[in-house]
Amino acid sequence: MAAVPGASAEAWWRRGWRGAVGWARVIGRVNPADDATRRRRRQVCAACPAARGTRKAHRLTVLTPASTCGVCRCQLLAKTRLADEACPEGKW
Ligand code: SF4
Repeated sequence: MAAVPGASAEAWWRRGWRGAVGWARVIGRVNPADDATRRRRRQVCAACPAARGTRKAHRLTVLTPASTCGVCRCQLLAKTRLADEACPEGKW
């Protein structure tokens, strides 16, 4: 994977821990974003050049379970579901 300008140098274990906590919050439905917010965020992330692991579907770029943000390294399907998350680039 190519380095992304501004990418976090956060330790792998800390990223893993943060990801596990994020997914636990998604599964436990802790502070979920509403459907419209989640869809809007996912559209922005899918079009973002920092997104990794996206795929093309019918001329649209969509997020997959493997999609991550190249800046904060969060898993995008989880990040976009949590109301109190924010894009590190201020896009949503
Ligand atoms: S969270 Fe922000 S910087 Fe990361 S992929 Fe989504 S729009 Fe891009």
